[in-house]
Amino acid sequence: MRIRPIQTPTTSTRFTRQSLLILCFLIMSIFPIQVVPSAEHHHSEKDAQFRGKQGEVLWIEVPVNNPQAQVSGTLFKRHIPFFPLTDTRFAAIVGLDMQDPPGVQNMSITIQTTEKTDHLTYAVNIVKEDYAVQHLTLPKNKVDLDAKTLKRVRLEQQEMSKAFLHIGTQPLWTSAFLEPIQGTVTGRFGSRRVINGQTKRPHSGEDIAAPQGTPVHAMNTGTVAATMDHFFSGKGVVIDHGLGLFSMYFHLSAIDVQTGQAVNKGEPVGKVGATGRATGPHLHWGIRLNGARVNPYALTALPLDMKGRP
Ligand SMILES: [Zn+2]
Repeated sequence: MRIRPIQTPTTSTRFTRQSLLILCFLIMSIFPIQVVPSAEHHHSEKDAQFRGKQGEVLWIEVPVNNPQAQVSGTLFKRHIPFFPLTDTRFAAIVGLDMQDPPGVQNMSITIQTTEKTDHLTYAVNIVKEDYAVQHLTLPKNKVDLDAKTLKRVRLEQQEMSKAFLHIGTQPLWTSAFLEPIQGTVTGRFGSRRVINGQTKRPHSGEDIAAPQGTPVHAMNTGTVAATMDHFFSGKGVVIDHGLGLFSMYFHLSAIDVQTGQAVNKGEPVGKVGATGRATGPHLHWGIRLNGARVNPYALTALPLDMKGRP
């Protein structure tokens, strides 16, 4: 997690105020006065710069003149909604996916009001994270899927992506994010997995081992976006925290909430189990942020105040 102070776009002032006034006077005497509609404003390539590792989150703020503005960003085609922080600032938590290519990437930001549209470009320097390799041995039928199971898994993947579709316009989180359970991390976020000798997709969450039946708490306030019982993830709960931020709790032995239900930060949503593809009782804890798979600990590390602001 990195937080960089916002850098307000600067205009290079090559003219003194006086010479500008003379210049304006000269121009006005040559050309008739006309009202120029200010439709589109493009700022320079480096209006601000940010830096973060793969799987981390960035708190990004944008200066605005109009609190009624609509502000959104795009990074790797991922839509990032900004929300009003004050009358003159909008903010977003931006996720860097665990597999985003390292290097400098431009995030384009649009500030739209009824009068005009402003465009800013923020440079995001994505730094490579060193992920560990994890070797696992699992029952063959949980790895080499038969046609029927493969079909089931594909349908469940579609069902899961639907859970992430709703993009709320306001943050639902209140104050800092918490760890859903206390336990031992047994599977790190981002680890490259070799299961029964085959290289599989990297691990998109944190696995925390805890006794069967341990209550699992919502890491922040939100709405239950979905509950499920899937082949891989077992019994699971997805919570929508607004603005495209979702937390996931998998392999539960019991689900204690229903889809559409509002949950408070710290409220129990289910119990630790070993449902789905699991070698023992543990919580798989994951985050989806604007479509990016980010480390849940990147969120708990955000130093947010009682209003959920840094
Ligand atoms: Zn896991």
